[in-house]
Amino acid sequence: MKSIMTVTGPIPPEALGFCQCHEHIMLRRGTPFQVNPALCMDDTKKSMSEVIRYRRAGGYSLVDAQPGGCGRMETELLNISEETGVHIIASTGFHKLSFYPADHWIRSFDEKALLHFFIHEITMGMYCHIDNTPPQTSTSIKAGMIKTAFDLEGLTPQYRTLFTAAAKAAEAAGLPFMVHIEQGADAEGLLQFLLSLGLNPSRIIFCHMDRKILTVNKYIPLLRKGINLEFDTIGRFKYHDDSAELDCIQQLADAGFLNQLLLSLDTTRTRMKSYTPNGIGLDYILQVFLPQLKAKGFTDSDMEQLTIKNCARIFAG
Ligand SMILES: [Zn+2]
Repeated sequence: MKSIMTVTGPIPPEALGFCQCHEHIMLRRGTPFQVNPALCMDDTKKSMSEVIRYRRAGGYSLVDAQPGGCGRMETELLNISEETGVHIIASTGFHKLSFYPADHWIRSFDEKALLHFFIHEITMGMYCHIDNTPPQTSTSIKAGMIKTAFDLEGLTPQYRTLFTAAAKAAEAAGLPFMVHIEQGADAEGLLQFLLSLGLNPSRIIFCHMDRKILTVNKYIPLLRKGINLEFDTIGRFKYHDDSAELDCIQQLADAGFLNQLLLSLDTTRTRMKSYTPNGIGLDYILQVFLPQLKAKGFTDSDMEQLTIKNCARIFAG
């Protein structure tokens, strides 16, 4: 029987409901904050109220895409899920290396140690207190996804080691393999490398590729390889307005790729209403973007495919 691993335990795929597949609900102040001050959401009450607003708008589930060692707050995610009833899927894996201090343990772990770490977080529970010290103390809260990141320095030996261990963990556990694609990074080259490792393309989710140049020619070759693309620049007006996003999604749907698209906001402090009152809010897709899709001619069944069925299929391990 397939199931989806959430912070409160496994759920059947049909219990997932409306899901935003790449959010950041809690994030401890650390190196990511030093890189970008919007990357700190460490007030449980505020994060909780944001999730409650999301739940009221029709959100059933969400993915917290912060991997361990760079600010993930696994215990708080469990508390929020228990209090709000929203299913939360947490992440193991690795982020951009610029989000870790120079002497961080993740930079010195070899492939075997990394694989062991990822598998432990998936099968036994996520480690806590690992932002500055190597994994020692484990919780029993399990990760349900592998989150990785591809930065502009490309496939350096260190990133090859990280990606190889993460791909092995994803295949062993049958979990989704999400990649933060930095703007300008060679996504095609990375995909070739991932496929050469034996990673099933249907597990792969490339994120953030909608931040710039929304022309379908950029996406179709990747979609033809069988991977999934996450549109998560919705409501991020420093990149572009929503109409560019809507047009692109419509063209890809018309080209037959509706089943390989996901929607999310990649929330930060500046977009959550509870931290920044004039932010768009975690409920923006439900309140604003879906009605816009509907006005474009998307049917209820199309939107169910985008926001429920695709997530359930990809996250069911
Ligand atoms: Zn993110």
